Amino acid sequence: MDIEQSPSLREFRPDYRWDDVACLPYKDDGAAPFKAISRQMLFHEAALGCELRYFEMDAGGYSTLERHEHMHAVMILRGHGACLLGDAVRAVKPFDLISIPAWTWHQFRASRGEPMGFLCMVNQVRDKPQLPNAEQRAALAADPQIAAFLEGNP
Ligand code: MN
Repeated sequence: MDIEQSPSLREFRPDYRWDDVACLPYKDDGAAPFKAISRQMLFHEAALGCELRYFEMDAGGYSTLERHEHMHAVMILRGHGACLLGDAVRAVKPFDLISIPAWTWHQFRASRGEPMGFLCMVNQVRDKPQLPNAEQRAALAADPQIAAFLEGNP
């Protein structure tokens, strides 16, 4: 998806949509577990080297639990929820900034009461996420707070 190189202003619209930005499935392959989450590609110019995406989860939705070499820079834009950041579960609210370093397990979960959306900046060229195997998942769930988070009760 290439956005034209000429200057542009794409207006913000109701329901967290933008002009000329398609609302896409969160991931193309069905291999990774996730729930009720969509993706909008806001910026993708090759000259930037990075992409800015907007992800939105319905109430109770969640992103994939994963880790990878590439980093994420995230800003919560709407709603409330929680995120797993390595060995900690943190509550998140609008405009919080979240840095996810290389090889850090991470997952976002919207509260049950409202959608949660966030901006995520990432390198255009990046490695494929790893999912936890049973042993890694069990090691994470050894922490009661992380176990509750993984079970959908952040
Ligand atoms: Mn990720």
